[in-house]
Amino acid sequence: MTDTSDDTGKTTFNRVMLKISGEALMGDTAFGLHPPTVERIAREVKSVHDMGVEICMVIGGGNIFRGLQGSAQGMERTTADYMGMLATVMNALAMQSALEGLGVFTRVISAIRMDEVAEPYIRRRAVRHLEKKRVCIFAAGTGNPYFTTDTAATLRANEMNCEAIFKGTKVDGVYNKDPVKHADATRYDTVSYDDVLQKRLGVMDASAIALARDNDLPIIVFSLDEPGGFKGILAGEGTYTKVHG
Ligand code: UDP
Repeated sequence: MTDTSDDTGKTTFNRVMLKISGEALMGDTAFGLHPPTVERIAREVKSVHDMGVEICMVIGGGNIFRGLQGSAQGMERTTADYMGMLATVMNALAMQSALEGLGVFTRVISAIRMDEVAEPYIRRRAVRHLEKKRVCIFAAGTGNPYFTTDTAATLRANEMNCEAIFKGTKVDGVYNKDPVKHADATRYDTVSYDDVLQKRLGVMDASAIALARDNDLPIIVFSLDEPGGFKGILAGEGTYTKVHG
């Protein structure tokens, strides 16, 4: 038994937030969306949905546009950030299409009103969707410039009473140094919020970590590239790092 499953391998989670970066949707391409990759991730989400777990999702926008990049090239920062938020809406719609193609009911819920393409964010309505087992994909970040989708995921996870944030990455947890560059990097099984902040471990940005810490919301960092990885971790298998108090 691990703290993600009981003696029978049944998950202990009822409602979770899955945060993935926009780049996770690129596959091996250099920009934008790679539909087969989006579908692969949608299958991972469906397998967890099939376990009866209620799922919230936040997808970044870095595969299309990041505000900081735009402002580094001379664009006004808040405008660039709004462009980044709009990029996340495209990713959310792509994921909605892939999930619904697999028969999973979803709602895209946007922090910036655009009623023709997504529902506006109304907390109680979003909770109701989750209770009806619809996957809620929260788009447009927090709706505010100067934030990231990591913070948006943490904010919505708190508002939706999620039991944890699952942060899908390219590696199976948090390492003391970049495991892609350093063969001797070691993975933490657990690490505290304060260590993540002090050692700048790069799990999520500092505001997101502080918001998770202040609300005792665990962050589980796992590999999204591992087939069956998301479901496996919920069933108590596989490797991951748990960030907690
Ligand atoms: N963004 C923002 N406010 C938010 C969330 C996102 O301004 O609440 C903008 C910001 O410019 C960011 C971009 O949207 O660079 C894309 O989000 P993020 O960088 O978090 O995407 P990821 O790196 O996860 O793909």
